[in-house]
Amino acid sequence: STLEDTLLAAIRTIPDYPKPGILFRDITTLLGNARAFRRAVDELVHPYAGQKVDKIAGIEARGFILGGAVAHQLSAGFVPIRKKGKLPHETVRVAYSLEYGLDEMEMHKDGVAPGEKVILIDDLIATGGTAEAAVKLLRQIGADIIAACFVIDLPDLGGRAKLEALGVPVHVLIDFE
Ligand code: 5GP
Repeated sequence: STLEDTLLAAIRTIPDYPKPGILFRDITTLLGNARAFRRAVDELVHPYAGQKVDKIAGIEARGFILGGAVAHQLSAGFVPIRKKGKLPHETVRVAYSLEYGLDEMEMHKDGVAPGEKVILIDDLIATGGTAEAAVKLLRQIGADIIAACFVIDLPDLGGRAKLEALGVPVHVLIDFE
């Protein structure tokens, strides 16, 4: 079957989670399906095979799982981007807006060296607020972001366009309207 069919069939949709009216795209079923997980990681890796990639930056928490697998395949390092207060060493921090209020995310200052080539990874991009904050952190420490990759895009929410406007190439595997 096609990539799209394999991934679509492996993603579970949960209505009214975490709030009434939201259709949550649950990728734990994709991660638990050996064939679908492998396929998703292979497709995330494919455009960058043979290119110089120094680090994969994964966004907490599902971006850690995908990002770790992609880093291994590309022989790159992995660097975590986390909710504030979780990282033990010196960090850079950025505030970003959620639907209600503000949150902050951070990464280690020495997680990426200036000029290193980095791919940003998360499971899903919606409004793009989370990924935009990650891009700001990476650029603050001088990373050269070669792409941002997601299994799922919700194109109606405009996140992909937001990242592209920042000059970040975006790679997604499937769209959900
Ligand atoms: P954004 O900041 O683009 O609006 O939201 C994206 C962030 O929220 C990502 O870190 C993503 O993991 C999480 N997220 C938002 N909606 C969903 C969803 O329906 N399914 C999953 N798996 N994650 C979501």
